[in-house]
Amino acid sequence: MLSALASGKNPGPASSMLKINGTEQMQRIDELAIEAAGAYAHVDQPQAREPGSNVAAVGPGHSLTAMPRYLNNRAASIYGGSNEIQRDIIARLVLGL
Ligand SMILES: Cc1cc2nc3c(=O)[nH]c(=O)nc-3n(C[C@H](O)[C@H](O)[C@H](O)COP(=O)(O)OP(=O)(O)OC[C@H]3O[C@@H](n4cnc5c(N)ncnc54)[C@H](O)[C@@H]3O)c2cc1C
Repeated sequence: MLSALASGKNPGPASSMLKINGTEQMQRIDELAIEAAGAYAHVDQPQAREPGSNVAAVGPGHSLTAMPRYLNNRAASIYGGSNEIQRDIIARLVLGL
């Protein structure tokens, strides 16, 4: 894909596959992080998240960003062309449907 882009060509339907796979894996990892953080994922701690902050985190450090990441990354399967649209592209260009 990168070499196709570098030589001015269209990356083709592989970019749609990569987008679907990448965003779905990312969202699964986010869901797992929420599960691992348990109740701590629900504590909103913007001050403790600030870089260089000396505000002590409630719960383990990894739970600080679990929910913000989860919520932010939900949009990844929408922006840049929703995953449904990417599947449409694959259906047409790869499967010829
Ligand atoms: C956080 C965020 C950041 C964004 N940043 C940018 C940006 O920087 N620049 C920019 O230009 N845009 C940006 N967007 C817009 C984004 O590209 C569009 O939201 C996206 O392309 C989906 O278009 P839409 O919102 O008009 O949904 P619609 O096209 O109205 O679709 C609505 C729903 O119907 C489904 N759907 C639509 N058509 C079909 C079809 N033919 N087959 C099957 N399902 C279909 C879609 O998958 C979706 O679930 C951003 C969006 C978000 C959420």
